[in-house]
Amino acid sequence: MSKKALKEINSEKTSQLVLSSCCKEECLKKLLLQPLEEYRKEFFLQSQVKRKQELLRMLHEFKSEDGVFHFMYLGGSICRIAWMKIHSTSNQLFYSLKTHALNQVVEIQHGNKSKPKPSPQR
Ligand SMILES: [Zn+2]
Repeated sequence: MSKKALKEINSEKTSQLVLSSCCKEECLKKLLLQPLEEYRKEFFLQSQVKRKQELLRMLHEFKSEDGVFHFMYLGGSICRIAWMKIHSTSNQLFYSLKTHALNQVVEIQHGNKSKPKPSPQR
């Protein structure tokens, strides 16, 4: 696991997260610490590529037919800022993923495009 990812799942970091402000609704302050810690641990244990792919998958789920995103976390509605903070998503990454989602892109291309996908082992 990368140092950055380790830093993200540090309990202190998650405690700070639930104290931080996101919007008028204060979504983050309503979250329970323990499930959030577990959720983030699971999320940051994945490789960076997998995390991006997972974020994109979520954005596809959040997107309504009229192109509006309804952000969710563990089954509850949440604002975009809170969702981004939970996943430590930068604005730059968010907008690039959002563009992918709006353009119906489902898989993130990461450099080695020419590499063939391994065939499923049976
Ligand atoms: Zn909020």
